[in-house]
Amino acid sequence: MKDETIGIQGLAFHEPLLFEQGSQGRRGCSLPENDVPEVKPERLLPKKLLRHDVPGFPELSEVEVVRHFTRLSQWNYGVDLGFYPLGSCTMKYSPKINEEVWRLPGFSRAHPYQPESLAQGALELMCELEQYLAEVSGMDRVSLQPAAGAHGELLGMMLIRAYLESKGSPRKRVLVPDSAHGTNPASAAICGYQCVQIKSGPRGYVEPQAVAEVMDEDVAAIMLTNPNTLGLFEEQIAEIAKIVHSKGGQVYCDGANLNAIIGISRPGDTGIDVLHFNLHKTFSVPHGGGGPGAGPVGLKAHLAPFMPVPVVEKKGKRFVLNYNLPSSVGKVRAFYGHFAALVRAYAYIRSLGPSGLRRVAEVSVINANYLMSQLKSHYHLPYDKFCKHECVFSDARQIPHEVHTLDIAKRLMDYGFHPPTIYFPLIVRGALMIEPTETESRETLDQFIAAMKRIAEEAERDPELVRSAPHKTKVSRLDEVKAARQPNLRWKGKAPGQGGSSAG
Ligand SMILES: *Cc1c(COP(=O)(O)O)cnc(C)c1O
Repeated sequence: MKDETIGIQGLAFHEPLLFEQGSQGRRGCSLPENDVPEVKPERLLPKKLLRHDVPGFPELSEVEVVRHFTRLSQWNYGVDLGFYPLGSCTMKYSPKINEEVWRLPGFSRAHPYQPESLAQGALELMCELEQYLAEVSGMDRVSLQPAAGAHGELLGMMLIRAYLESKGSPRKRVLVPDSAHGTNPASAAICGYQCVQIKSGPRGYVEPQAVAEVMDEDVAAIMLTNPNTLGLFEEQIAEIAKIVHSKGGQVYCDGANLNAIIGISRPGDTGIDVLHFNLHKTFSVPHGGGGPGAGPVGLKAHLAPFMPVPVVEKKGKRFVLNYNLPSSVGKVRAFYGHFAALVRAYAYIRSLGPSGLRRVAEVSVINANYLMSQLKSHYHLPYDKFCKHECVFSDARQIPHEVHTLDIAKRLMDYGFHPPTIYFPLIVRGALMIEPTETESRETLDQFIAAMKRIAEEAERDPELVRSAPHKTKVSRLDEVKAARQPNLRWKGKAPGQGGSSAG
């Protein structure tokens, strides 16, 4: 593989801050003369809230502003630019048709207070999306309200709590495996539960025996992730569900990574009572920059009375918003959730169809197993078995050369790749969690494999080169704590190819 760098040479520009550009009085627009009587600001606002000038306010022309932000956008990295193998995050390519569809004026201009009679299309879409999600997950109902995966977890725990309360007691504890995403124990705790950690077995699975040992009538629920964060399919999930149900507990499934099983296995068929989806993972809603995403929650019929209001329903030929759920946990999001995310997911499901969704799972699993099989000659693979959508390596073979996971991740940037997830899951020391996703081609995977192998060889031959990486980015290794606390946005780098500055 050639040592080429992306986006920092040739016509990629260095860009001063907006505050350092322009000149006094320069304007980006021209407005016509005022033809209505002027209202003095003092008449609208208290004097102490008014200011007459803004010190240092940048004054620029339109073209300067456009170029500034366009140039900055070229410094950025995203899935439309290259491979983004961030484990657990499913940074797959989002087809542009989804964007086209939600930008249709009937969707993008709909107002949340529009009367039902004028929002029939939007309501129909939500009603159908609920059915599709219920169908692929094997659940009875789906709430579309939660804004993200963690928010869905919280709603799931609220539903469980409300259900158990209706049976007499909300109970006290929630079981969470040590391989869980950090949001799981956080959601249970916010919902007022004490978390009990369950140790994964030596093969990387949650063992029914370990659950049985701590399961009693004070335990409200278990939160399982399937496929789990090691990328493994929890083989004994039905058995575990039986144990939890036998003591009156509920089974929550973190379905953030449904792309590994969609169209093949349905969590609802294995005893799951509640599960959340990540539309901004499995269903191709973009999630760079933190959202907005959506984390719908699927539930079994016995939890339906507690769903957040309103729920969308079909009455005869009309779609209506039903607010009349006396036992509802209330609202968890303004209006009906992130509608634009729902439309994108709907477009994605409709454009793929059932066989296309199944193909998503097949290809995501094949891609991950291909990467895993190619890289295990160079990296330690703690759980060496077929994986689902992602695989987890560690730095155990690089540590003797004093090269660590962080160094490997940083060095990948020199080869034009976003680093994978590192140091998670916590049960693997120095974890490198790689999720190729189903949207990457064989060629891209081969380039990534070549880069990873080369880094492993560098670690043996020239460890300092890896330890001091990245060398070809705008800034080299940052002190991450200082960079977050005292950001220095001025770039004072050296010429490309000579390594960046050590900007703090
Ligand atoms: C991403 C993820 C979450 C959290 O989802 P957010 O939308 O980021 O809140 C929870 N669990 C797992 C397994 C995930 O991968």
